[in-house]
Amino acid sequence: MNTISKHLYEINEYCETIIYSIYHKSKTNLCYIGHTTDFERRYNQHRYKSCSNTREALKNPLYKAINKNGGFNDFIMEPLRVFSCNNKRDAQEEEQNFIDTIQPKMNTRPAITSTDVILCRCGVYIRNTKSDYVNHLNTKKHQRLVKELDNVLYKKWGSKKKQPFFAGRQ
Ligand SMILES: [Zn+2]
Repeated sequence: MNTISKHLYEINEYCETIIYSIYHKSKTNLCYIGHTTDFERRYNQHRYKSCSNTREALKNPLYKAINKNGGFNDFIMEPLRVFSCNNKRDAQEEEQNFIDTIQPKMNTRPAITSTDVILCRCGVYIRNTKSDYVNHLNTKKHQRLVKELDNVLYKKWGSKKKQPFFAGRQ
């Protein structure tokens, strides 16, 4: 994949980001918040990984908690809200807002971790910290690349308003 199609892919992938929760059917304070771009696939992953004989079920705090409390069938996983995000970082920030508000017991680490590397809209990989991100947005390189990208998109879709990938946050 060349750079343009790579970040078109990333932008396209996150344009429908679903924030979801997993909570216990009766102990509703047992809750987890996550994000996905494919709810059904993520549902099946969570269901499979929480089966008590998988490696994840023994090691991962979320699946350990699910198993300790009756297994996946005693939990409900449902979408909370859909956001149009530009990239992984946007998606993580939306997730973190929900985590900050709901303070779910089964999340053991923040949505945004500085060890992540994310792909910016301009096609450049950057470290996923707030300062790295903000500094990057202010670089001439980012601004030039975004301008180039917008020109490509403009040629492709004619009007910027029609671009499906830049609907912005809801
Ligand atoms: Zn950039």
